[in-house]
Amino acid sequence: MQFIAIHPAVTRLRGKGITMANDMEWLRECNPAQKKAVTHGDGPLLVVAGAGTGKTRTLAYRVAYLISRGVSPDRILLLTFTRRAAEEMLKRASSATAASGADVRKVWGGTFHATANRLLRMYAKPVGLSPDFTIMDQGDAEDLINVVRHEKGFGKSDRRFPRKRTCLAIYSRRVNGTEDLPAVLKRYFPWCEEWHDELKDLFKEYVDRKQRHNVLDYDDLLLYWYYLVQNEELGKSIEDRFDHILVDEYQDTNRIQAGILRGIRQKNRNIMVVGDDAQSIYSFRSATVRNMLDFPRQFDGATIVALEQNYRSVQSILTTTNLLISQAAERYTKDLWSNRPEGQRPRLITCTDEDSQNDTVIAAVLEHYEQGIPLRKQAVLFRASYHSNSLELALARKNIPFHKYGGLRFLEAAHIKDLVNLLRILENPQDQIAWFRVTQLLDGVGPATAAAAFTHIAENGFNPASIARFHAPPAARDGFRRLGGLMEDLTSGYNKPSVEIETICRFYLPLLKANYENPDARARDVTHLTELSNRYKSRRAFLTDLALDPPRSTGDLAGPPSKDDDWLVLSTIHSAKGCEWDSVYLICASDGCLPSDMATGSQEEIEEELRLAYVSMTRARDFLYVLWPMRYYHGRSRMGDAHTYSQLSRFFTDDVAATMDTTAEPADTLDSSDTPSGISDTGIASRIRDMWE
Ligand code: ATP
Ligand code: MG
Repeated sequence: MQFIAIHPAVTRLRGKGITMANDMEWLRECNPAQKKAVTHGDGPLLVVAGAGTGKTRTLAYRVAYLISRGVSPDRILLLTFTRRAAEEMLKRASSATAASGADVRKVWGGTFHATANRLLRMYAKPVGLSPDFTIMDQGDAEDLINVVRHEKGFGKSDRRFPRKRTCLAIYSRRVNGTEDLPAVLKRYFPWCEEWHDELKDLFKEYVDRKQRHNVLDYDDLLLYWYYLVQNEELGKSIEDRFDHILVDEYQDTNRIQAGILRGIRQKNRNIMVVGDDAQSIYSFRSATVRNMLDFPRQFDGATIVALEQNYRSVQSILTTTNLLISQAAERYTKDLWSNRPEGQRPRLITCTDEDSQNDTVIAAVLEHYEQGIPLRKQAVLFRASYHSNSLELALARKNIPFHKYGGLRFLEAAHIKDLVNLLRILENPQDQIAWFRVTQLLDGVGPATAAAAFTHIAENGFNPASIARFHAPPAARDGFRRLGGLMEDLTSGYNKPSVEIETICRFYLPLLKANYENPDARARDVTHLTELSNRYKSRRAFLTDLALDPPRSTGDLAGPPSKDDDWLVLSTIHSAKGCEWDSVYLICASDGCLPSDMATGSQEEIEEELRLAYVSMTRARDFLYVLWPMRYYHGRSRMGDAHTYSQLSRFFTDDVAATMDTTAEPADTLDSSDTPSGISDTGIASRIRDMWE
């Protein structure tokens, strides 16, 4: 076995007579297949394995192993799906390598996007970027597309041009996949095919605009990295930085990401990827499970390791999830088994309506809490963020703290965007979208004045303070003067981001009151942003982290969670990837919610929804509850609101349900008191059945 470098700490330890075997006592915690992967020598390695079989743990131990064998931490690249995942893995690796004295924090750990950001700033010049580029999040990118769309007059036609969000989705599909625009339109957006020429024109201008204004969207981060490594010399230079590359959740990478990896593993072929095809749930972002299946072909001579023992769940949960996923048409990973005791059978609970679903979840959460399972080891999972709306209110009423993952992100809130855009102007005064947003906050400013103001800025060498001299319409003059004064203050010397935000707040808080409802709650978010910025010395680092790893909503309804260090987890299934909890509650398991009625167009989409159900249920260690309400209310309160009836998700076939304990609420809890007497059968049941004929 050959390794590239011997870490000095290892030589030191050897000198002191400490043996390798003692160093790696933790290897005993791995089963033989895991050990094979952890101690693999040089060359490509693929671990294909089901949920909870220890893939992530094996990756973390491999990092530890490599370091213990002398690989320098800063020559390891660990790519994960979230920053949190990388941090957790490195913590594990750190305790395993404590004896070596190596600094595991030096490992390049994080998401593809964060790594791209780091590399692109280093290689900005040859890439043709300025190193102070700013990153647009999804909302900003949509806004920029919208600006261009309006400028080109596409919104004005009598036929309906695709909305900004659809335009961006089409663009993203095109750049992340292998299909050209006509093929993307035909396959994913057939109702937009007639707009091919206009869309092409729109995207050309969108790209041009981003480049002129020194901004990158999320896709650009990967694209620029991809093209960077296509250049032989630059690709080699990046390849040479890393002795080993490790990738988690490989089933959810797209073609561009696989291309990047191939580009930086030309000579040095030390790459390990792990994944589970049954858990691929990001095809809407052009992720393709083919990356994983094609890995042995793309990396010739790859060693393949399969893991089948699940360490996470009790056997009764696995029995249900194995059966559930066996409905998938194509599957490569095998059924899982566990050494853990049989455990409580998963429960499938039919509820009258959402209120009763909320009550049932809360009662079960509290019961487990009383039994000693803290709230944060329990999670409520759902397909779409809004599925938890009424539960959030119910939790707030009962004073149960919660954190919600994957909902409306903190950064997407309009008032936070305003503040962040003010900072972005300082970082990159060419950022047109930031200027548009900020100037339109001022009294009497609409899109036309905002556009004229930006032209003025451009004509004045992008000097932010020059906005004070913009010849604005009379109603807006005072606003522009104050904005100019703020820019003058902010650009007159270096300040920490937190000081900048405080200065900005003096200007912004009156605007917040004038522009938004509920200003007090929003002002609290502003305080939260200021607190966050305290951790940063540089504005650039702060803005980059906000764009790439934004904080989640503070869960206003339940009060600040910091008051209590225990909280219930609420999460979309997509954001629950890779995680585990003692007790899991999958809510809204009805057809239309899971599978989502937005995704029942094709067999492929339904298969992905099935995998989503599988991912959610395999997060559970000891207790799994699947709940579905028979009735959904459409409005805020149930009083006098219309409602619809639903059916249990099609994924819970009779066979699957037979592995679970099924409970329906007793008939007498159903709300029948207000049924007009004398009407016995309106044929509703048969109409509901007819929907599925
Ligand atoms: P997923 O597919 O959901 O991402 P995974 O394959 O990455 O799951 P891990 O999260 O690494 O699985 O591990 C699942 C659980 O099993 C963790 O709690 C982990 O600590 C535990 N585990 C893994 N391997 C072993 C082992 N050999 N002995 C004991 N526990 C283990
Ligand atoms: Mg994992």
